[in-house]
Amino acid sequence: MKLKIAVQKSGRLHDDSIGLLKECGIEVSNGVNSLKVTAGNFPLEVLYLRDDDIPQYVEDGVADIGIVGENVVLEKQKPITTLLPLGFGKCRLSVAVPKGSAYKSIACLSGRRIATSYPVILNAFLQDNGVSAEIHEISGSVEIAPNIGLADAICDLVSSGSTLFLNNLEETEVILRSEAVLVQGPVLAAEKQRILDQLLFRIEAVKRSKKYKYILLNAPDENLENIIRIIPGMKSPTILPLATEGWSSVHSVVQEDDFWNIIESLRREGAQGILVTAIEKMIV
Ligand code: ATP
Ligand code: ZN
Repeated sequence: MKLKIAVQKSGRLHDDSIGLLKECGIEVSNGVNSLKVTAGNFPLEVLYLRDDDIPQYVEDGVADIGIVGENVVLEKQKPITTLLPLGFGKCRLSVAVPKGSAYKSIACLSGRRIATSYPVILNAFLQDNGVSAEIHEISGSVEIAPNIGLADAICDLVSSGSTLFLNNLEETEVILRSEAVLVQGPVLAAEKQRILDQLLFRIEAVKRSKKYKYILLNAPDENLENIIRIIPGMKSPTILPLATEGWSSVHSVVQEDDFWNIIESLRREGAQGILVTAIEKMIV
């Protein structure tokens, strides 16, 4: 028996989705010429689909699980379960208006025409804010709608903001922040659930490893206690004596997001020869 996972066939989530499976030690080809591929070394079948179709296929059980943007999950309103965020495909769904519009607050959207591919989410947002506007659903190139006179504002996905900039638009409201998530449909048979648990275990290990760095440094013995306090590690750091009397080598892990503060504290404690490397997998 194989677990079936739906992945975007091509587009912004494709490479990172396949990359995640690879980091989990699962070999799959990229599906350029096929809709369905079987992993070489794990009981997994990958279905390559358009991202918009993934919630439906997962609901129907055509695929057991899928990788899709949270924005699509929320827009499609299907009875599927979000298992965990995956840390890529980060973007926000925002309202933008032509630069120089006299926009002050959400109320300014009242009676306006807003072009979007996300009518469900936009409608809920407008209702929550007591604004009634005209929603124009269009399926692609939403950002050109104001320039061609089709709309007064847009509601679209933004990451760097460069598309908005190029189209002379400015972001005025962030409706939601999104990233790729793993979703599941109906309850799985026991054997498939076991495969899913195995996959989740691997994904967690890969995700965790990205949050941490492995650190090695040389420290004067008299400051070891302070240094251990700064980099406590998973259980406790490894300390090895150096050939030079009075010095030790310390090995530990540190959180990526606090990294530079930690390095500064370590240097204040006399740490030298600090090496930092990426961690590939991390099992606690
Ligand atoms: P498909 O052909 O599968 O329908 P698509 O054109 O609808 O593809 P993409 O543009 O590839 O979709 O985006 C897929 C997902 O990537 C989005 O739903 C969103 O979750 C995420 N994403 C991240 N950054 C952005 C961005 N700047 N613009 C659009 N989507 C983004
Ligand atoms: Zn799509």
